[in-house]
Amino acid sequence: MDATRGSLRDRELDVAREIANAFLTAGSPVEVYRLALARVTPLVRASFSSVFERDPDDPALLKLTCANNWPQASARYLGQLRLRVGRGPTGGAVARMEPVEVEDVFADPRLREWHEPARELGFVSLISLPLATGDRATGALTFYFDEPHPFDEDERHLLKLIADQLAVASARVAALQAERGELEVLRTENAILRQRLGANADAKRLSDEFLANISHELRTPLTSILGYASLLAEGQAGTLPDAQRNTVLRIERSANVLLHLINDLLALSQVKLGRAAVTIAPDDAVHLARLALDSAGTAQPGVRVTLEADTDRIPIMTDGEKVGKILENLLSNAYKFTERGSVTLTVRDTTEDGVPAVEWIVEDTGIGIAKGQLEAIFDEFRQVDGSSTRLYGGTGLGLALCRALARLLGGRITVRSEEGKGSRFRVVVPGTVQG
Ligand code: ADP
Repeated sequence: MDATRGSLRDRELDVAREIANAFLTAGSPVEVYRLALARVTPLVRASFSSVFERDPDDPALLKLTCANNWPQASARYLGQLRLRVGRGPTGGAVARMEPVEVEDVFADPRLREWHEPARELGFVSLISLPLATGDRATGALTFYFDEPHPFDEDERHLLKLIADQLAVASARVAALQAERGELEVLRTENAILRQRLGANADAKRLSDEFLANISHELRTPLTSILGYASLLAEGQAGTLPDAQRNTVLRIERSANVLLHLINDLLALSQVKLGRAAVTIAPDDAVHLARLALDSAGTAQPGVRVTLEADTDRIPIMTDGEKVGKILENLLSNAYKFTERGSVTLTVRDTTEDGVPAVEWIVEDTGIGIAKGQLEAIFDEFRQVDGSSTRLYGGTGLGLALCRALARLLGGRITVRSEEGKGSRFRVVVPGTVQG
């Protein structure tokens, strides 16, 4: 008795090891069956074995998933073979979710229709075991024996163990395979997205290129319009009555706004295309601040404008023209959005990330910017409120250009603002020269 149990334990361990092995090496559920059956069939002393599973097209039918050592003569038809769930030993095991044993096909007259195939295939006895992971059998595992084979409890136990472990192993591999499939799908989608992003970048470059060209082309006729308008306004083509002169002045003002926009567009597209030339030369940060104050236009009546600098000179190696453009933009915004109070431009040397640098701070007591809009104002054509265009004019390009230019110089722009109280734009650019 002990010896039998011992050998049963050994065989249990053997089949468990074989199935675990199949599980670890298989890439698909069919492969689990194939690898496991090849090792387990001889272990249980069967002459051949099969796994039938529900046909996905018609779950009332079973089709062959895998066979081991199936007699060659009829192997060709196996692919087309369909068994009906509920009929015969394999169909019965699936329908009833319990093993079906046939000790001797030829001894059972109810199995007369099996005599012919049994003779052809060369089996006498078989056992079909349901393959089930939950409460539904997905198929059955059948072992065929070439001699009458009475099954005892130990053997039933072992065979059931095989069927249960195989069902679990193949379900796990199927789940892994599905995960791998999803991963694969994700990978493919990623590749497609990357490709599209690349295409987007190309399209973006083309549109920057287009903007650069068109801006350039627009500038020439616009300069003529401005030239002739100013000739007319000055009376060089004959004295104009006041009403006509005022109209011409309006044309001139609008053309100037347009020229400003085109210049900003051109400058921005040049930076984005990597074509903006940076000319680094010795300059003076305080002088640059003064120049910007001179060229930024005028603040609204009653608004105090001050320059704060601790020293007369702050030498800096940078592209002064670009710094000037940034400051001019920031100042003209401050003037535009401040009705009362002050606009202050502070300039001083500092260090940024451990590097000597200069900071210019444009601070106003104007309308301020809502918290949620603070990042967006640096986007191209972005204005806090569409209506502000009508109220304040502008194109929404100024800050985008300022940020692009600051980055080009190795610096940055940050903003702090409170709605209704005012804004503080800080530009920092590396490059102070000591002494
Ligand atoms: P715009 O030509 O419209 O001034 P900008 O890019 O320079 O374009 O500014 C974008 C938007 O940021 C402005 O339309 C305005 O809503 C907001 N903004 C910029 N500077 C200030 C400021 N000093 N005070 C309040 N709002 C400002």
